[in-house]
Amino acid sequence: MNLFELTKSLMSVPSTSGEEEAVGFFLRDHLESLGWTVEMQPVSENQNNVIATLNDTPRVWFSTHMDTVPPYIPPTEDDEKIYGRGSCDAKGIIAAQITAAEQLRKEGIEDIGLLYTVEEERSSTGAKAVNLHPLAAQCEYMINGEPTDNDLAIGSKGTFRLMIRTSGKAAHSAYPEEGDSAIEKLLDILEDVRHTKFPNDEFFGDTTVNIGTIEGGAALNVIPPTAEAGLAIRLTTKKQPIEEAVRSIVRDRGEIEILSFSEPVRMHEVDGFNKKVVRFTTDIPHMPNWGKPLLLGPGSILVAHTKDEFVYKMDLASAVGLYAELARRLLTT
Ligand SMILES: [Zn+2]
Repeated sequence: MNLFELTKSLMSVPSTSGEEEAVGFFLRDHLESLGWTVEMQPVSENQNNVIATLNDTPRVWFSTHMDTVPPYIPPTEDDEKIYGRGSCDAKGIIAAQITAAEQLRKEGIEDIGLLYTVEEERSSTGAKAVNLHPLAAQCEYMINGEPTDNDLAIGSKGTFRLMIRTSGKAAHSAYPEEGDSAIEKLLDILEDVRHTKFPNDEFFGDTTVNIGTIEGGAALNVIPPTAEAGLAIRLTTKKQPIEEAVRSIVRDRGEIEILSFSEPVRMHEVDGFNKKVVRFTTDIPHMPNWGKPLLLGPGSILVAHTKDEFVYKMDLASAVGLYAELARRLLTT
C-alpha cells in the first residue's frame, strides 16, 4: 500500500477517542503483514496502544495517536490534497512514519519502533499507560508526530484546564436583597482573570487564557444560586505560579476544580531542520520515560479539528523523507 492509500485506509476506519479498537486492529494486521512484531497494549476494555518493533530494543521510535476528534468525516481527495478527519491529525502522520520506517528497513536500519496511542485528544490515558512499558527504558529518542507544517518543534506550550464555580442564594428576582447572585460573583472573577497579566516566557512565548464555557442560573426571574466557567490556559511557565495566580484571583469568592494539566516541554533539536515553538500540547509530557522527545509532522494545526481538515499530498511525501532523515541522524549520534 502506498503512502496515500495507507492514509485513506486509516481514515476509512472511524476512531473518535474511545473508539480506536478497529483502527488498532487494522494497524496490527497491516504491520504484521509487513513483518513487524506487534503488541497490543490494553489501556481500557476496548482501547489498545499499538507497539511495533523489528528488534528487541529499538533506540529510535516514531509515535503519534490513533484517535481523532469528532465528528467522523470520510476521506476524499483531489490531485493536491487528502481531505477528511485524521488527514492531518494524525492518520497521514501514521502513514508517513510507517512509510519512512519501511524505507529505513530497506537501507538495513531496523533499530526503530512504532508506537500508536489511544485517547490523545482527551486525556492521554494511552500515553500514560505506555509510559510504564518496559521498552521505554531502551528508547533514546521518541519522534512524535503532530501537524507542525513539517517544521521541527523545539518546544510546545503546556495546558492547564480548570473550572471555577460560584454559589449564592436563590430568591425572587423582584427581591434581590433576599438572594445572592452566583452569576455576578462569577462575572467579577472572570473580569479579574481577563485583566490579569500572567507570567510569560522568552522561549515559549505568551501565556494565554480562554474562558471556554460559562453556565449558570435557573430562570430569568430567579437570583442565580450557582454558576461555573471553564478555562483553558496555555502554559509557557510551570503550572504552579499560574495556579497560585488563579487562586489569588478567586480567593473565597468561588471554588476551583483542576481538570488536567501538562507542563510546557522543550524538545530535542537537530541541525538542518526548520524550527519553531508550537502552542498546542501532545502526548509527549505524559511519556517522560521514552527518551528525548522530538516533534514533527505534515499538515497544519490550524485545520486540524475543523470540518475542513486536509493535508497536502506533497507535505505527506516530504514528511517521509524528514522522518527517515531524523532517524538516521539520531541513530548515528
Ligand atoms: Zn493530534
